[in-house]
Amino acid sequence: MKAEEADSLMLRKIYDMSLLNGKSYDWLDYLSNKIGGRLSGSYQAQQAVEYTKAQLEELGLDKVWLQPVMVPKWTRGAKEFAYVQTSPGVTKNVNIAALGGSVATPAGGTKARVIEVQGIEDLERYGKEQIQGKIVFFNRPMRADLINTFEAYGGCVDQRYSGAAEAAKYGAVGVIVRSMNLRMDDFPHTGSMGYGDTPVSKRIPAAAISTNDASYLSGILKMNKDLEFYYKLNCEQHEDVQSYNVIGEITGSENPEEIMVVGGHLDSWDLGDGSHDDGAGVVQSMEVLRLFKEVGYKPRKTLRVVLFMNEENGLRGGKKYAEVAKTKGEHHVFALESDSGGFTPRGFSFDADKAQFAQILSWQELFKPYLIHYFELGESGADVGPLKEGDVVLAGLRPDSQRYFDYHHAANDTFEEVNKRELELGAATMASLVYLVDNHGLKQINTAKKEKM
Ligand SMILES: [Zn+2]
Repeated sequence: MKAEEADSLMLRKIYDMSLLNGKSYDWLDYLSNKIGGRLSGSYQAQQAVEYTKAQLEELGLDKVWLQPVMVPKWTRGAKEFAYVQTSPGVTKNVNIAALGGSVATPAGGTKARVIEVQGIEDLERYGKEQIQGKIVFFNRPMRADLINTFEAYGGCVDQRYSGAAEAAKYGAVGVIVRSMNLRMDDFPHTGSMGYGDTPVSKRIPAAAISTNDASYLSGILKMNKDLEFYYKLNCEQHEDVQSYNVIGEITGSENPEEIMVVGGHLDSWDLGDGSHDDGAGVVQSMEVLRLFKEVGYKPRKTLRVVLFMNEENGLRGGKKYAEVAKTKGEHHVFALESDSGGFTPRGFSFDADKAQFAQILSWQELFKPYLIHYFELGESGADVGPLKEGDVVLAGLRPDSQRYFDYHHAANDTFEEVNKRELELGAATMASLVYLVDNHGLKQINTAKKEKM
């Protein structure tokens, strides 16, 4: 049998197994419905560690272990409350959620006039005179004309991440940020923010507001610039706590020192149950190892599933995994992350050298029957990013991104919004690529250089 024929048959087997006898959807059901949102440092995050470890142990892998990592612990506290007051006694409640990492408002809440801006650049334009004592309302929307919605997200998320630190420099008393969502609805979308080097006493509370309410606020501000906005956040930052990356391994049969990683992140935000972000990536990654077992493929290289802790508000798990790998002198040749939702897979983006990428492109034809066509150079994933060194190829699964930000970090990121077939196709697509990398190897661009050293 010709090599391509054998490959094509193996891919068929992998897809069949995932679609006819998959386990990813059941695992996700448990993770989402029995455990729920898994914010770093929470009881649920610990339950997720224990559950996935037990499930990996059931697969009969060569090794399963926990890798300790200290993680930040931030809690939301009681649900937030906010309203717009257009004149004394005339108010309308609006939907907000504290951004992860935000300080609370004072016990009585924060109430102030509002200045709307279209981004951080606007702060300088308005200056202290117009910002001092007010709440800054960051309202630059995600661009609807960008086909890759992650690009649209990238064009806005600085408002969420750095808005509070920047606005505080101009004397703002708080910030509210339009949710990173392309759809008009009532869900506020949380996400991480940071204060940089802002002293603790100067830190101002930050919350996301739903797109519908952002639109309402912007409209009413045009008629009444003296209106007041009230909000109350009850969140709190605690001491770091002990947590874990969950790791399972099939040791390579020929080249065990060459390591391939598949992974997603086990933690999630707390508003929904984290099904798309990133329960999907977790169960798909676990499924890759199960599929190999089920179709009877023994990888030549070592294959690890890594369920990273704390991607959302610290990336401690991704950093720890890379740090330990470096200390141990491990040689990672490939790392694939799924962290873009459980939607229909379209392909992958790769962080690879030209020669390595050319080799990957030669496999493209094999994916045609599964409508997998997107093979581009680009970003891989936040958790595998720290592994970047030497000849390792990093990759990210790229599902259709059109609906991702409808759910991202919001209360509607729930199990019902994940389609079973789409999830299973993603797992099979990942397993197929890992199989090809294992079976054919990747060009080791730096070998020559290393030998000289
Ligand atoms: Zn994620």
